[in-house]
Amino acid sequence: MAPVPKTMSGILIEETGGVEVLKWKTDLPVPELKEGEVLVRNEFVGVNFIDTYFRTGLYKSPLPLVTGKEAAGVVVATPASSSLKEGTRVAYVADHAYAEFTAVPADRVAPIPDGLTTETAAAALLQGLTALTFVRETAELAPPYHPANQLGISKGPWVLVHAAAGGTGSLLAQILMIHGAKVIGTAGGKEKCEVARHNGAQWVIDSKSEDVVARVKEITGGKGVDVIFDGVGKATFESDMEMVARKGTVAVFGNASGPVPPVDILRLGAKNVKLMRPVLFAYIATTEERTAYTKELFDLLLTGKVRIKIHEVYPLKDVGRAHTDLEGRKTTGKLLLKV
Ligand code: NDP
Repeated sequence: MAPVPKTMSGILIEETGGVEVLKWKTDLPVPELKEGEVLVRNEFVGVNFIDTYFRTGLYKSPLPLVTGKEAAGVVVATPASSSLKEGTRVAYVADHAYAEFTAVPADRVAPIPDGLTTETAAAALLQGLTALTFVRETAELAPPYHPANQLGISKGPWVLVHAAAGGTGSLLAQILMIHGAKVIGTAGGKEKCEVARHNGAQWVIDSKSEDVVARVKEITGGKGVDVIFDGVGKATFESDMEMVARKGTVAVFGNASGPVPPVDILRLGAKNVKLMRPVLFAYIATTEERTAYTKELFDLLLTGKVRIKIHEVYPLKDVGRAHTDLEGRKTTGKLLLKV
């Protein structure tokens, strides 16, 4: 294995702002390992909307910052006590992924099983774990899985997924479908609606040209939806409160259009709505949770029950273009950076 250099290339944020603050550097220090960490040479880095929040300053972090929350690559250095071998292919959800090398707590790296490419593992991990934990713990749906080709119209709950052609939305729709939910997906424009349908949304609403609330009422026979997964946030929250069924759940999990303003809790009583703001990291806080959900996600990928659609693999240097495309609603599926 090639020796680990002292410096590396990566993307540094020295001040928050637009995509121009994502600076390509070739002389960043390779991180030194602290107790319990392994060094990963990243091959593919996943781009997530959360990266844009750290870039703009919506989410706070000390600066300068190498951001990026997931990647996959090869272990190149381990502490003597580690059971992980150098050369093992791994994927991880952790900090500082927009670089050639990342020091990752050893209990955060997941060996990639044979049969799964490093690229797919990088593309699947954060958004796949989000979708899987949200389906289980936010929507409280249980396996066993339904074979996708025998589904027909399910008896499960009505679930609405906003941005069902996006990275997280694509996986939510697929995983909800195999859990037997009746999935309604929204997407902006005809092409994205086709992608959402392909992801398993049995009903698709074009959020650019249709009245989403009216269509949901029509599809559900006036009842509304039992669960709403909303990563869009500010632009869609008010309609969520109209579309949710009595005793339903509104799970706002992101801010693609901006954060939802503070909510008057008294509003929830009109339909006894459960309002949630789930975050992946709090569902995979323990090693047991991380290991079990990761194994299940990898099995879903290996057996073809869940598929990954990659929008584009951008050179790491071009991360600004990736952020522009993601924030500009120009993408479907997953954006990756090649290191
Ligand atoms: P996506 O690939 O879903 O891209 C965002 C999509 O949101 C766009 O393609 C667009 O789809 C839709 N959108 C609607 N309005 C806007 C707007 N004003 N600006 C930009 N996009 C808009 O991104 P991700 O899968 O990375 O993330 C989706 C959401 O999930 C984000 O809010 C993210 O923060 C959140 N998330 C939260 C997690 C958690 O733990 N809480 C974990 C992972 C993701 P369309 O054009 O079809 O409307």
